[in-house]
Amino acid sequence: MKVFNSLTRKKEEFVPLEPGKVKMYVCGPTVYNFFHIGNGRTFIVFDTIRRYFEYRGYEVNFVQNFTDIDDKMINKANEEGTTVKEIGDKYICEYYQDADGLNIKRATVNPRATEYITDIIEFVKGLVDNGYAYAVDGDVYFRTKKFESYGQLIGQNLDDLQSGARINIDERKEDPIDFAIWKAQKPGEPAWESPWGLGRPGWHIECSCMAKKLLGDTIDIHAGGMDLTFPHHENEIAQSEALTGKKFANYWLHAAFLNVNNQKMSKSLNNFLTARDALKEYDADVIRFLMLSGHYRIQLNFSNELLDSAKASVERLYNAIGNLESLISEVKIEVMTDEEKKYVDSLDSYRQRYIEKMDDDFNTADAISVLFDLARDINTNVTINSSKELCEKALELIRELGMPLGILQKTTKVSLEEEVEALIQARQDARKNRDFALADKIRDDLKARGIILEDTPQGVRWKKAD
Ligand code: AMP
Ligand code: ZN
Repeated sequence: MKVFNSLTRKKEEFVPLEPGKVKMYVCGPTVYNFFHIGNGRTFIVFDTIRRYFEYRGYEVNFVQNFTDIDDKMINKANEEGTTVKEIGDKYICEYYQDADGLNIKRATVNPRATEYITDIIEFVKGLVDNGYAYAVDGDVYFRTKKFESYGQLIGQNLDDLQSGARINIDERKEDPIDFAIWKAQKPGEPAWESPWGLGRPGWHIECSCMAKKLLGDTIDIHAGGMDLTFPHHENEIAQSEALTGKKFANYWLHAAFLNVNNQKMSKSLNNFLTARDALKEYDADVIRFLMLSGHYRIQLNFSNELLDSAKASVERLYNAIGNLESLISEVKIEVMTDEEKKYVDSLDSYRQRYIEKMDDDFNTADAISVLFDLARDINTNVTINSSKELCEKALELIRELGMPLGILQKTTKVSLEEEVEALIQARQDARKNRDFALADKIRDDLKARGIILEDTPQGVRWKKAD
């Protein structure tokens, strides 16, 4: 399997630290609001990558944090006249509702920064003790220049970065490029006791600390949205490696933005659509399909037209599924013929092509094309004259290849209840329109299927005939 490593700017063969296992850390949301589908793209991309590793037989320890203490959290709590803790509790709940709605698998662990304060303080203390950090008036700063390989992820050296940082001069820092890893309490802010007085962690240190605590000093994959490359991830590398003296993450993966009119979807630009609202109108399969229809390292320009075209594409794939589901209950022959067995073997080429595409840095766009080719082949070759076993095998393969993408797992079969309820409603409508012939026909058709309707004062009831 090849993955594009932002650290080396090359596609590299993926070699896990431990055979068959993947230790993966993904920067999660700041939980002060509903997330938008821009954030959703990043979550869906790394959920898909995790699912694909699992499909290929890896056991994935997948950690995605919640940032539940920072300026945005504090401002939101003040706006709403509540505590930072309550804002965190609320939006973590909302996160799960929407992430579940998008068919994003639950992480192995979702650590909350505020639950790791003791470990974070230990981490900061370690950096002060070994000279990589210094305290000033209750703040602690990372001594960036001391970490000589700083800038490796962004691909710039310390001198270039330093001239850029001069704009923001803070007298208390030894160097403008130094960054806060612990922040002294400001009036009204939540704070924890520390060797430097009351304060709270900086954002970058949270991820360094939780990754170390939950996955170890060196992890396989660290991931997040493209905007996190600098300074967040650069700083994480510096802090972690300065403390442990070991390589922090072997592979860095970054997902490109979801844009609107070629600008990043973001809360501040007010050009966002929340996942919650998107899910009111579109199925998770459609939203995931849209996000995965382009390569994860290429920006995707969101529009309603794109969403509608994703919907039409997903419908085409579900038509193939629906067709097979109907055939399974209708075909007359049970067991595959020898010819059919050969045909099933030939379908394996789609699986191979799919794996080839996904093995090449998770090329979901091409993997989706393979799914369409497969569906087309099946639509032509699996018919009412096929065996039930063949229909089942074909359906299994479509679902198998949909699984890593988190799509195509639903059934198109309508339950008897839903179908009868819909027909009862149609009959009521017909009566209202004084189309009694249609109303009677619906009742008679149902009766022929062994379903009896009873008009009662409480409405229409139905039961199966004995
Ligand atoms: P935040 O809650 O802003 O910290 O963002 C959570 C995750 O979503 C981070 O990994 C961001 O990089 C990512 N993200 C934010 N906006 C976008 C966007 N428009 N497209 C893709 N990913 C995004
Ligand atoms: Zn992070």
